[in-house]
Amino acid sequence: MIAYIILIVVIALLLLGVGGTMLLRPRGMHGVRRSRAKELDLTGSMPAVTDDDTGSRGSATATATAPAPAAPPAQRAPEPAAPPRRALEKPPPSAGRMVRLRARLARSQSGFGSALLGLLSRDRLDDDTWDEIEEVLITADVGVTPARQMVSDLRTKVKVEGTRTPEEVRGMLRAELLNQVQTEAPRTLRTQRHEGRPAVLLVVGVNGTGKTTTVGKLARSLVGDGETVLLGAADTFRAAAADQLQTWGERVGASTVRSDKEQADPASVAFDAVSTGIEQEVDVVIIDTAGRLHTKNDLMDELGKVKRVVEKRSAIDEVLLVLDATTGQNGLRQARVFAEVVDVTGIVLTKLDGTAKGGIVIAVQRELGVPVKLVGLGEGPDDLAPFDAETFVDAILG
Ligand code: GDP
Repeated sequence: MIAYIILIVVIALLLLGVGGTMLLRPRGMHGVRRSRAKELDLTGSMPAVTDDDTGSRGSATATATAPAPAAPPAQRAPEPAAPPRRALEKPPPSAGRMVRLRARLARSQSGFGSALLGLLSRDRLDDDTWDEIEEVLITADVGVTPARQMVSDLRTKVKVEGTRTPEEVRGMLRAELLNQVQTEAPRTLRTQRHEGRPAVLLVVGVNGTGKTTTVGKLARSLVGDGETVLLGAADTFRAAAADQLQTWGERVGASTVRSDKEQADPASVAFDAVSTGIEQEVDVVIIDTAGRLHTKNDLMDELGKVKRVVEKRSAIDEVLLVLDATTGQNGLRQARVFAEVVDVTGIVLTKLDGTAKGGIVIAVQRELGVPVKLVGLGEGPDDLAPFDAETFVDAILG
């Protein structure tokens, strides 16, 4: 009997043990699954986007990133999310940009054109008035010699024509300004492949003038015109310049050749950039350079070497000098120094949207004997325009 009772107790204990384990096990498993499920949620695709969501989140990511393919649920592995890839931007072509940006130009030149029109419309044009006209021109950075020449030309015209309606005054001044701004040398940039190699552009100028920004904007504009571009980050003295350039390039699919080393030899980076451009058969290689202007000898050593070394691989098609239009006479001094060191083929006047006085266009072209080819009219990525004399003069006259 006792044995019988012991047997029943043992069986009962056994049953309790098994039941307890079974009761506990599912709870434990369920816990693990949940945390794993949670893990998968974090690494897998985003929660479904509801109709309400699409307005904000959907549109913001659509332009900035390439859509990631959705992983089938069964294969969701807990791997780190890939960094979002930016979609390439499609910059607008260069044509017509100056007209689009004309309002900015007109804003920055306000006063200059209207002051001249006001003075020339006076009933009596005496010596004092002509002196005032000359003063307005000089204050607008036209330069003393061109200002005197303009006054002399205008005086002759007024004498010959006699009467002056407002339209006539405007037409006369427009013709005179155009005469000063127009150049014989073409303003077009040589940016197409020729003789089986890319066009090579060297961009020079004092740091702070907007050189690197101009290289970035120019790359965009050329991509907008359907060209393939490679950038050379030879401004190795300013740590951020290469990053800045690379970012500009990445936005439009232009690669950047740069050095990993700080203070690397600019000439060697420029050489590598041109070599890579030749290998990759791009249309144009644009090289950004450093613009430390401690002494003319420093500059001559540095830019001279970049030029010599690049020319071992390819002729240089354009040397573009970037000048900050707001610096007036100081900008002209810089232009003189650079022109002695390298053969400048074109001028880029930046910040013409700011407090710049338009006369600098006349002064610098006259000083260097090379045309203004591009103008910077803002900090936006597409605020660089091929220079057009008529649009510029019309903007001055308001
Ligand atoms: P760098 O040292 O010559 O390479 O000069 P950066 O390219 O770094 O430009 C210096 C500053 O000038 C930056 O803040 C640019 O955004 C600004 N900048 C460049 N071009 C223009 C322009 O056409 N208009 C205006 N308003 N700012 C400009």
